[in-house]
Amino acid sequence: MIYPSQREVKMQKFSYHTHTNSFGLFDGRNTVEEMIEGAYKAGYTELGISNHLIYHPNMHISSEAQKNDKMFHADKQKAKDIMTAVAQEIREKAKKAPIKVYVGFEVDFFPSKKWRDDFENIISEAKPDYLIGSTHFMRTPDESLVLNLYHLKESNCPESEIDKLMICYWENIIESIKSGYFDFIAHLDICKLFGLGIGPKWDELKRKVIDTLDKYHHPYELNTSGWRKVGEQHPHLWMIEELNKRDVPIIISDDAHKVEHIAGDFDKAEELLAGINYKNRYKPNIKL
Ligand SMILES: [Zn+2]
Ligand SMILES: [Zn+2]
Repeated sequence: MIYPSQREVKMQKFSYHTHTNSFGLFDGRNTVEEMIEGAYKAGYTELGISNHLIYHPNMHISSEAQKNDKMFHADKQKAKDIMTAVAQEIREKAKKAPIKVYVGFEVDFFPSKKWRDDFENIISEAKPDYLIGSTHFMRTPDESLVLNLYHLKESNCPESEIDKLMICYWENIIESIKSGYFDFIAHLDICKLFGLGIGPKWDELKRKVIDTLDKYHHPYELNTSGWRKVGEQHPHLWMIEELNKRDVPIIISDDAHKVEHIAGDFDKAEELLAGINYKNRYKPNIKL
């Protein structure tokens, strides 16, 4: 028997899930150059920059909070212009970078045909190198109402409706896996930051997510940002263990929103994976 402490733990030297403050429109704190420099100093061999693509035709831009959130788009053309510009900016800066730098988008997925058509149009000019599938929303099944988890308080959503809308949170993740759009799926249980989706009543849906990742052999991430926010990585350890049993590929992400977050808690993540002998590690295969 080999104990994890005796095994040489190799550190993953890249992240494909990071953010910048490009054009003052995104929620990172640093510029593209600063993030590249930070990644280089952290010993990364490559860096993926994945700013948010958050678009839905029914996005409630009218609420105060979302009006201030410049990443939220209900206007397809505006979303397209911004995502094309940010991809261009990263590609320009990548030319002078000491490491490989890739353009990704962290995409808030929605299953409707309308959203898919618009999404395909939005990315058609930017042509990102890879895509991360994310769900930061609760919604009704028909997407007539989409509510961002970070702005739930301002939405005045009645308590009694939340469980119903949360079912679609998990269904949304399942559909994002099936969509085939994404290189990997982000932070499966980001909802726990808001005290949502916690407790045994959600286990069945979480197991459905696990079954779908297994069925499609779809990569997902161990997101270390959970440690700095709620003291636990994303997703729960039991989910990682279950996915390991099924040999589903995993990637570690720092979800860095500033230079100081780069490679944050990677040692802890490596130890966790070594401790359960997680073998199937994932890295997007990008050819430029
Ligand atoms: Zn995210
Ligand atoms: Zn992110």
